[in-house]
Amino acid sequence: MKPMNERLVHMPRSGIREIMDVVEAMSADVTRLEVGQPHFPTPDHITRAAFDAAQNGFTRYTPNHGLAEVRASIATKISHDYPALEPTADNLVLTVGGVYALALVVIAFVRPGHRIMIPDPGWPNYTLQAITANATPLYYPLHQENRFRPDIAELERLVTSDTDLLVVNSPSNPTGTVLNVDDLEALLRFAHDHDLRVVSDEVYDKVVYEGEHVPLASLDTEGRVITVNSFSKTYSMTGWRLGYLLADPRTCQELTKLSEALISCPSSVSQKAAEAAITGPQDSVADMVDYYRGNRDLAVRTLADGGARFVTPHGSFYVFIDIDGTGLDSSRFARALLEAERVAVAPGRTFGPSGSSFIRASFCTSRHEVERGVAGIVRFLTSLRSHPDRRPARGVDHRS
Ligand code: PLP
Repeated sequence: MKPMNERLVHMPRSGIREIMDVVEAMSADVTRLEVGQPHFPTPDHITRAAFDAAQNGFTRYTPNHGLAEVRASIATKISHDYPALEPTADNLVLTVGGVYALALVVIAFVRPGHRIMIPDPGWPNYTLQAITANATPLYYPLHQENRFRPDIAELERLVTSDTDLLVVNSPSNPTGTVLNVDDLEALLRFAHDHDLRVVSDEVYDKVVYEGEHVPLASLDTEGRVITVNSFSKTYSMTGWRLGYLLADPRTCQELTKLSEALISCPSSVSQKAAEAAITGPQDSVADMVDYYRGNRDLAVRTLADGGARFVTPHGSFYVFIDIDGTGLDSSRFARALLEAERVAVAPGRTFGPSGSSFIRASFCTSRHEVERGVAGIVRFLTSLRSHPDRRPARGVDHRS
């Protein structure tokens, strides 16, 4: 038999999913800080709208790019939240979560064998998508000393003539960094100078504790930026699998063709749920973000009191914790922490080559879990630093 495509065979798995699988095979009583799964149920009025839609016959295929009335509602909400952007329904393609919107952009704009600039550390799926599209990831480092902000001089050193796409993610997963206008303008100038398309992953735009979220597209005078967003995090709708991308109408038309090839259309009832989310009361969003802020404050206080090194996240719901000096790389640390404290975190290496000496803890779960989990991390870090002999044998991260 002919073999499977080599690219797939050699593609690594997301380290977040790997640790989730380990946890799920364990008995209960694990504190789960490994995944960005909001603790709240989807607000009631959203679930009810989907239920009503299903009962009223919204159970059929929809247009490839989504229902016109849902795209129009999203366009109105974007204009309200970010007056510098004034999209219409023609600027939107509805997608199966933000992840599929990103995949569409990567497939459409990165030519086979060409490069895609990915933040390091950055969400692992960017790398997986680059591999899927037969492209080469080109990581641009974000340094802890620089609060994980991009240094344009470094990007300049790395960029090549066959680089097609630049990925920007603010607020960031995994670092919680929120880029300011200066950072964003510098990235846009860089993209202009090298004629790069830019995809701006803004799925955490509403989860900001300090500063404000500035949509990259609001600074873009050239139509370079394609924005990706999602209902998953803002409305606690991860399982509904609905997101969207915002681009010029021509790009939307081309990506709509691609959607027919890959998914035909997103789920009809999820689109109706998203419409209710966008047009309905927004207080649950503010309430959830307030709760995450309380979790963040608790997590950073506990980490700081325990002598851990980290940068306080200003957005999203993750803290990227430095484990350098423990003698363990991130995968071994995550496994050993799970064993010693029954606390699950994501190994930093899955977020890129620079992540080997970090772990990522998510704080969108319950206050109690955050309290218990972060205390366990601090205890474990302290025990490794004060008793180096207790370190498990040194290992190598699962991705090289
Ligand atoms: N982008 C980032 C940075 C994320 O962290 C995630 C999910 O964790 C996504 C995109 C995609 O989320 P979804 O596909 O659920 O919309």
